[in-house]
Amino acid sequence: MTTALITHPACLDHELPRHPERPERLQAILDHLDNTGLIRDLTQVTAEEADNQVLTRIHPVDFIEFIQELSPVSGSARIDPDTYMSPGSLRAARLAVGACIQATEMVLSRSVDNAFCAVRPPGHHTELREAMGFCLFNNIAVAVQTALLDKQVSRVAIVDFDVHHCNGTVDIFKQREEVLVCSSFQYPFYPNRYLDYQNAHIITSPLRAGSGSDEFRKEVEEVWLPAIEEHKPDMIFISAGFDAHRDDLMGELNLDEADYLWVTTTIKNLANEHANGRIVSTLEGGYDLQALAASAHAHLEGLIG
Ligand SMILES: [Zn+2]
Repeated sequence: MTTALITHPACLDHELPRHPERPERLQAILDHLDNTGLIRDLTQVTAEEADNQVLTRIHPVDFIEFIQELSPVSGSARIDPDTYMSPGSLRAARLAVGACIQATEMVLSRSVDNAFCAVRPPGHHTELREAMGFCLFNNIAVAVQTALLDKQVSRVAIVDFDVHHCNGTVDIFKQREEVLVCSSFQYPFYPNRYLDYQNAHIITSPLRAGSGSDEFRKEVEEVWLPAIEEHKPDMIFISAGFDAHRDDLMGELNLDEADYLWVTTTIKNLANEHANGRIVSTLEGGYDLQALAASAHAHLEGLIG
């Protein structure tokens, strides 16, 4: 089995002083993979920028132009109280989408078995035409649409275990039956949008503050696995946020590295059964540097198998 690690140093250039979604997050993951030697078990790939044509697979042109025009030459620009752009943000955001596209293409061409995109800014809060929650473009959504353009893929599943609900991903795919979305998240909590929305292919697992391994694993086993089995996806995408970790102060759930290894292994087994092993995962949240690095490591161990 081969697992790709796709990243780019310019993903560190999206930065605002004292903002929790900071370059040190990505650096902590990469340093940890280096220090533990796990990096040697990964196929390292340098991300390329997604152009506007690729972004329009999901986002309307006027939204893409809004982000482009907001991009500051110096200082910073705010989209909302949480979401910013610095001079390096537009390129970082294009690289984050581009990494997910490359991951998808590499997995579909079987040049690797699966892939993890170590990128930022994250993407799962960005709706069709609204950026929010630290996110600029919806990275995973553009990748999912790219996969669906390939004749090998007619159905996909997205699983999202970030502490926050993926309102953006739900907004984009809520009418698309071929896309199953399974999301666990602290409830009630930010983003306070789409938290109660569900239908046959939008599956939600709200977890009360203080919930941990038992509650999370029960939802995955009793709710997600049957839904994925029934959906029979040709490819599985993971929005891998690690802010539900017990040490992460952004949320109040109590997962740990063992849970991230477990859920990844569980998804991998399902992908082997239904989807020729095809998995593309991308980084979403995770704000405690140590917990984030250890959790991403566990996730990669699961992908490598
Ligand atoms: Zn999050």
